[in-house]
Amino acid sequence: MSKLLIDLTQIPAQGITDRVIESYHSDELDGIVKEHEISISFSVQKLDTEFLVQGTIYGSAGQDCSCCLEPARWDIDLSFAQAYTADQTVIDIEPEVRDTLLINLPEKPLCRKECKGLCTVCGKNRNTHSCDCQAESGDIRLAKLKEFFKK
Ligand SMILES: [Zn+2]
Ligand SMILES: [Zn+2]
Repeated sequence: MSKLLIDLTQIPAQGITDRVIESYHSDELDGIVKEHEISISFSVQKLDTEFLVQGTIYGSAGQDCSCCLEPARWDIDLSFAQAYTADQTVIDIEPEVRDTLLINLPEKPLCRKECKGLCTVCGKNRNTHSCDCQAESGDIRLAKLKEFFKK
């Protein structure tokens, strides 16, 4: 059952503005992100043969960082607009809200802009621990290569 139904028979001629739905929970988003805290504000405008719904989806969502697996969180601030023919009594704006969210989800959520990820050698989080695994192995290989070409 959609939580985002709008009864068009209740919309006055001048329309409605700044309607807010707090703590909107999307089941679809559940399978993709770990958590989300989302609110929606929208207005409904009555036109000749249709209703125009314009809104903003705002809040934040959380998922594991795709690089280091630590929690990543990002802000959501999206807008949407959709017209609905006036021959219906109740409209559901949930598909529009859901699609807007899904399209704009980060492909690779990151805990920070420059996440260094996990060390591929020792598995330590390189944001919080420094290790010299890669530097070491790289240097050794390079040194050996240089030695080889000297001969
Ligand atoms: Zn990370
Ligand atoms: Zn390491």
